[in-house]
Amino acid sequence: MNRIVISNGIVFTGEEILSSATVVIEGDTIAHVISGDDSARNMPALGDGNENRPSNKTSHTNGASPSNRTSPTYAASPANQTSPTNGAGRTNRASQVANEADTIYVDASGRLVTPGLVNAHTHIYSALARGIALKDPPPTNFVQNLERLWWRLDRALTMDEIRLSARLHAVECLKSGVTTIFDHHASQRAIRGSLSTIAQALGELGLRACLCFEVSDREGAAAVAAGVEENSAFIRDTLDAEGTMLRARFGLHASLTLSDATLEACTKAVDSCSVGFHIHVAEDKSDQTDAESRYSLRVIERLARFGVLGPQTICVHGIHLDEREIDILAASSAWLVHCPESNMNNAVGCTSLQELKSAGVRLALGTDGFTANMMREALSAHLLQNHLTGQPGAGYNTVPDLLFSANAALARETFGVDIGLLCEGSPADLVVWDYRPPTPLTMNSLWGHILFGLVNARAEDVIISGRHVLQNGVPVSCNEADLARHCSLAAQDLWDRF
Ligand SMILES: [Zn+2]
Repeated sequence: MNRIVISNGIVFTGEEILSSATVVIEGDTIAHVISGDDSARNMPALGDGNENRPSNKTSHTNGASPSNRTSPTYAASPANQTSPTNGAGRTNRASQVANEADTIYVDASGRLVTPGLVNAHTHIYSALARGIALKDPPPTNFVQNLERLWWRLDRALTMDEIRLSARLHAVECLKSGVTTIFDHHASQRAIRGSLSTIAQALGELGLRACLCFEVSDREGAAAVAAGVEENSAFIRDTLDAEGTMLRARFGLHASLTLSDATLEACTKAVDSCSVGFHIHVAEDKSDQTDAESRYSLRVIERLARFGVLGPQTICVHGIHLDEREIDILAASSAWLVHCPESNMNNAVGCTSLQELKSAGVRLALGTDGFTANMMREALSAHLLQNHLTGQPGAGYNTVPDLLFSANAALARETFGVDIGLLCEGSPADLVVWDYRPPTPLTMNSLWGHILFGLVNARAEDVIISGRHVLQNGVPVSCNEADLARHCSLAAQDLWDRF
């Protein structure tokens, strides 16, 4: 069984902060989290000799210590002994990780270790749109933005471009410390097999993912039928498969592009399996205007009528909801994902998190594909709530729970394992950050460290399900230079066809 030992980190377990702790991973699971002095007593022997056993006397990584040479630290390795920390107090990169038989040692001395982050809503298919020029005049409203950019883009995507988009997004997730994503995919002319293509690409990079295809009437009946079948087939495959790396939901675009007949076909398809939906809800006023004018219902009322809402359903945005809709949403126990950077970019308005939280809506946080960076999304959410309410404390009251607790809870419900916790028996999804707290780090100060420090930090080492997928800031299963070159060529071709 493969073993990974992450030693002497400042560990945020999801529930508490351990000022110095060692995390031992065996297989895909965290086997031990040993804090401070307990580590020497409780740590099982490693390797084949005393040099590999932790010793309290030597549980520091100061390579200048004479004792270090004979009784190396828990993280000690041949490389560690010959490449001590540099003068700036930072361990040389080559010394941070060393392999020894089936054990990988990561010296996290003084650096923050956290559970892997979860992105509750993203769009892999937007990855190659970075810098794309529109062929129409700039949009002046949200629907024009969909028509002139996103719907044209997803129509043009080929399966190869989808695969590259998934690889690119996965790399950016790993480098942002994101280990689990909930993707909402659209490629209306490359539907069949698109989800398994994405799943394969993410699997190669090591990311945990919940996927869906967004059904929409915008490309006609054949695309609707293909979208329903793509969701259904992928859900069946995922339910049949073993493991906890891949899950599915049934994807719907938004009320404004879904007829009653289409919604009925989708809910019928989902009836036979135990998954929920993933759908944009009231992102813009146009979603409500459409529902009211065509169906004499508000968006949430309409979705409730078709049985779309429920504890496994992920709604996204929910900016333009009235009180009754918020109550229906809360009573359904559906999730609502907040995506502040996308909302600001699209100029569609702002969700009041306090109002939703008070009503009992289950909130989560996502990037909507705007970036892969959940730390930055959390900062933006914080700033936007302060700005919206005119109260400097509004962000503190509503956002901290989302980044770790709520998103992890959504992931736990979805994948059936204790994602978001670093404790014995939980899945080994964690991040060693290039961040050494320069002020006291406690549970009370954690949010301040996130907003003013971690937001600028890089993920150095990322483990997902016991697999070392980012090592010293570099993805293990992907050559970034090659990927960038391939993506750039593909993007130019895509932009020409767009
Ligand atoms: Zn979205």
